Amino acid sequence: MAARTQGLTKAYGSGETRVVALDAVEVAVGRGEFVAIMGPSGSGKSTLMHCLAGLDTATGGQIWIGETELTRLKDKHLTQLRRDKIGFIFQAFNLLPTLTALENITLPMDIAGRRPEAEWLNEVIDTVGLRERLGHRPSELSGGQQQRVACARALASRPEIIFADEPTGNLDSRAGAEVLGFLRRSVDDLGQTIVMVTHDPVAAGHADRVVFLADGRIVDELADPIADSVLDRMRRFDGAGRRS
Ligand code: ADP
Repeated sequence: MAARTQGLTKAYGSGETRVVALDAVEVAVGRGEFVAIMGPSGSGKSTLMHCLAGLDTATGGQIWIGETELTRLKDKHLTQLRRDKIGFIFQAFNLLPTLTALENITLPMDIAGRRPEAEWLNEVIDTVGLRERLGHRPSELSGGQQQRVACARALASRPEIIFADEPTGNLDSRAGAEVLGFLRRSVDDLGQTIVMVTHDPVAAGHADRVVFLADGRIVDELADPIADSVLDRMRRFDGAGRRS
């Protein structure tokens, strides 16, 4: 397993203002698996991703990244684990404007004092199709190209797992499709593990499995999704919500 949880609970606040964002969530992500997390706004998607990625602390339960129990780690080791084992892709690309595409891709490794493996870096650059753009700054790249730089940055250090938070949220459908195609290839060709939060059934259709959250609980799963089957499942929840 690349990541798993047992009884993962997260509550914010206390007393009357207490909100249970995650309620005993059990989820497991296999190595080389691409999992999409979906659910209505407020269902706990971001909280789940932030807890899994060690960006937020759990109130109860356990989380493992690979063999390491994240919920037992102190700050220093947690920072190390995030740096060495986890890659991030955000909706808002988060590239540094003064650096070239290549410098952005290698920045996290430069900061960590690690040398990128040349062969791997080449493979990543070819997979995202950025060879001709490596010397360009983000302002000279399209949104889709910027997000491909961010994807390459996440992949460059060969993380155990990549967390992608609405990676196509700021892209038009064509650029979005390119990025999703690339994420899919990085799973199929490079064996990458990806967990992606998305609202978009088309994006979720690129995953191996969709996990649906509602009110902090996993309420359904869908294997081998396509956009239509995801949409169908979402409609069913929507209808159930209105009836109750
Ligand atoms: P989603 O990503 O699915 O929209 P979130 O994980 O952001 O859902 O939120 C889940 C629940 O936790 C919501 O009820 C939200 O209001 C609450 N919540 C999230 N973050 C905080 C916080 N920092 N303080 C208090 N409540 C929060």
